[in-house]
Amino acid sequence: MRGRFAPSPTGLLHIGNALTAVLAWMHVRSRGGEFLLRIEDIDQQRCKSIFVDQLVEDLQWLGLDWDEGPDIGGPYMPYRQRDRQTIYDAAFTKLLEQALLYPCYCSRSELADVLIAPHGWFADEPRYPGICRHLKPHERVEKACHKAPAYRFRVPEQNIGFADEVYGEVNIRPSEGGDFIVRRSDGLMAYQLAVVVDDAAMGITHVLRGSDLLASTSRQLLLYRALGYDSPTFAHTPLLLDEYGRRIAKRNSTATLLGMRLAGVHPEEIIGVIGWLLGLTDMADPLSLTELLSCFSISRIPQSPLRLSVECQKRLRINVTY
Ligand code: GLU
Repeated sequence: MRGRFAPSPTGLLHIGNALTAVLAWMHVRSRGGEFLLRIEDIDQQRCKSIFVDQLVEDLQWLGLDWDEGPDIGGPYMPYRQRDRQTIYDAAFTKLLEQALLYPCYCSRSELADVLIAPHGWFADEPRYPGICRHLKPHERVEKACHKAPAYRFRVPEQNIGFADEVYGEVNIRPSEGGDFIVRRSDGLMAYQLAVVVDDAAMGITHVLRGSDLLASTSRQLLLYRALGYDSPTFAHTPLLLDEYGRRIAKRNSTATLLGMRLAGVHPEEIIGVIGWLLGLTDMADPLSLTELLSCFSISRIPQSPLRLSVECQKRLRINVTY
């Protein structure tokens, strides 16, 4: 068994990221598997190296360890996406050769007028209506003179089913989200392609991540199939909300691991709250990671979002006022 935690270093890790990291680690370690840390910094405008150093330190402070990662290397180096572009290029060419992609010349402002309101599984993002899917060859040539294209995956009209370790049988129609981008117009690969290529290349057998990525999994399964890779087992875990039901914001510095640590919170206090929120323990009292690991079973993880109560916020010196 091989699993991973794959954060994007766009800011400091917060309590919600810690929850996912601890879950991914326990999932693998409870079954004697190998755990790796991969940095998803493909979007170099949004990601900063300083956050990479800090997240390594924060995860170690929390008590997590990994067998491979950017700080210690490993057989599948490099472990930072910004250094893996040539690997993505090869996969991109493979998709292109199968005619599964098409160039899209739509600019951001053109898209603003035509995007279709989101719904269903893809409620977080507006749907691309497929304008460039139907361009005639001469229209493509004409557009190519003015603009470098992004490339979209031609999503077929079919349901994608998979067995999720937390959600059970899931059936999603990725065409509801429209044709998605695999390469941006600036040449950078998009998350969907990079994550699939990396998980396959690094021999990941079990992907555990937040349930905000559940719909994305249907797109990624299309890519697994197209690239001829075996797909891993997926487990999507509940998101962490504040007492009003809002996502814990990255900008709330008191909810970051560094913020809590500077406020004098001990890692065992965070682990204790995480264990209690997940329903693995009866009380939110401080707990070591080894103690929590002994209570862990993926079958005990709930589907519905977790609420960080005011009481828990006090324990962790988190101040949710924004
Ligand atoms: N890099 C993604 C994030 O930080 C996670 C992707 C994944 O686990 O597949 O949200």
